Amino acid sequence: MKNTNLCLIFHCLKDDNSLDNDIHSEMFVHRKEVEELIIQLKKEGYVFKLPQDAKKGEKVCTFTLDDGYANNKIFLDIAKKYEIPFILFLSSYNIISQRPYLWDTFTKTEGHMYHISKFDYIKYYNEVVTDPSLGDNYRPFIEKELHSFNDNSYAKIALHSHYHQPYVGNFLEKCEEDLNTNREYVSRFSNTLLEDFALPCGLYTKRTISILKKKCQRIYTTDGAGYKAGSRVISRISLVNPKVGGPLMDQIKSSFKLKNKLRRFVAIKKYSHPNLL
Ligand SMILES: [Zn+2]
Repeated sequence: MKNTNLCLIFHCLKDDNSLDNDIHSEMFVHRKEVEELIIQLKKEGYVFKLPQDAKKGEKVCTFTLDDGYANNKIFLDIAKKYEIPFILFLSSYNIISQRPYLWDTFTKTEGHMYHISKFDYIKYYNEVVTDPSLGDNYRPFIEKELHSFNDNSYAKIALHSHYHQPYVGNFLEKCEEDLNTNREYVSRFSNTLLEDFALPCGLYTKRTISILKKKCQRIYTTDGAGYKAGSRVISRISLVNPKVGGPLMDQIKSSFKLKNKLRRFVAIKKYSHPNLL
């Protein structure tokens, strides 16, 4: 991890232990665990900045939050307390429709995940009329809550697709339309990064990157390990509940190991893994 910039992803935050046996509990990281990680990273000499502000020779760490879960509002306090700029990557369909995220409703209904690179999100959303009840911890932000991010000088809202359909295979041809819809929605807010796009499920091909480079300045993957200052493709490290993945700092360090990169690749090929969301 020497002289490497880090870009971290969280999906869901919590401040109690009530969710440890619920669906996708691996996505939830406790506020205390996030704060402990920040203190450890500071001790290791990391400074907290956005990737576009990283300079050569610095050890920069960026915090990102994906999808738009309302529980992410916990990070607003953390950001102010430790002075941490961060990016909230929003999938706009769920915010607009106020429907829970597909991986949560599908798992709740079917008891397992779907194949993330082949599943048709739009078809599913059209076919399923009634969503299962999931509770407040799984709901997306309502627009009014997102406006409170405008008052936090550390927050930036950026792009994460409209439907969260991965931009691969047959879905690649519709990616520009999907990206435009997502950008149009995110433009409603004032503190935005409209040129920063996080890949849904972190999935991509060479063609995905080539198309997106014409539309965005920075593309964020979930490939693990670090990134170099000035990169347009930013590799991020997805962090999960330490009860599942071990201490957060160990998760960061192990994402640099080749065998873990291969394990992720196999997970995508075979089916889905929740920390790829
Ligand atoms: Zn996502």
